[in-house]
Amino acid sequence: MTQIFNFSAGPAVLPRPVLERAQAEMLDWHGSGMSVMEMSHRGKEFMSILAKTEADLRTLMNIPSNYKVLFLQGGAIAENAMIPLNLLGGKAADYAVTGGWSKRSVEDASAYGKINVVASTEADKYTYVPDFSTWTLNKDAAYLHICTNETMSGVEFVDLPNTNGVPIVADMSSHILSREVDVSQYGVIYGGAQKNIGPAGLCIVIVREDLLDHASSLTPAVFNWKTQAENQSMINTPPTYSIYIAGLVFEWLIEQGGVAAIEKVNVAKAKLLYDYIDSTDFYVNHVAVKNRSRMNIPFFLKDESLNDAFLKGAQENGLLQLKGHRAVGGMRASIYNAMPIEGLQALVAYMKAFESKYS
Ligand code: PMP
Repeated sequence: MTQIFNFSAGPAVLPRPVLERAQAEMLDWHGSGMSVMEMSHRGKEFMSILAKTEADLRTLMNIPSNYKVLFLQGGAIAENAMIPLNLLGGKAADYAVTGGWSKRSVEDASAYGKINVVASTEADKYTYVPDFSTWTLNKDAAYLHICTNETMSGVEFVDLPNTNGVPIVADMSSHILSREVDVSQYGVIYGGAQKNIGPAGLCIVIVREDLLDHASSLTPAVFNWKTQAENQSMINTPPTYSIYIAGLVFEWLIEQGGVAAIEKVNVAKAKLLYDYIDSTDFYVNHVAVKNRSRMNIPFFLKDESLNDAFLKGAQENGLLQLKGHRAVGGMRASIYNAMPIEGLQALVAYMKAFESKYS
């Protein structure tokens, strides 16, 4: 059988050893006689899973002790609404629009207060992060929201603007744990799990404690960060099985040498594909080199009439889910932590063969 490589943007590929372990533990977790799916979220077995999962995430990201880690339902899009509800406290907020996801964040947040768009690359089809000197930041903003990796257009931040103390709130859904991050530079980091962490249904919110006192009285209890922080994310039933798999992924990542080690692999993987795209005019990527995402690599065939043939041949070669986001078109290879370098080698080999056949 052809080896399969899954380039889905999310839900996405998970490390094989994690799936194998979940399979082995499916019916009887650690001699408990229960599947994790069957456990009470307040029982000692699941509480131990949750505690280990949080501890491992804290280790991996070096999360300072004055940050809370929340395991919530609702995905990143629910947080788009919950961020203003939890943080605005009657003020306005700044948002940078660098792609489809941060634009969506502005649209969702605007229902809850005054949102100022301080930078936008919409007119340039989201191909770069604008120079920070052009951002019209407000010193009284409750926070600045950014999306540090735009999954659709493949634009990644490599540094942060100086906000003079205004907390930065970052949607890291599609590159969390793929590169080293200094958590202390952020007020809030959040992300849906289904790309670099685990299955869908879990959203992780990492929030600095001093930001927990601004929630509007309209904030639903299950999304009130302070209430959830005080109750170990158990105001409602958390997504227990997704948390368990996330915990296995964190253990796997620690075994790989942690974030610094996987970052090196991620750099090498992305380089393989970008170097090849840059070496030919058969394929093109439009993102400014500095901001090219290491996780989501959109590319276009110069002759777009070949798109269907490209995707069909890719599928036949075991290269799955390469179709670009419907808002962007073309192709997109999402190459999260769990994608082995062999996947990139196979993709580039296929792209070369396709180019020779059609040029
Ligand atoms: N933000 C980013 C950067 C994303 O990639 C996605 C999902 N593709 C979302 C937000 C939305 O996440 P969810 O569907 O989990 O709410």
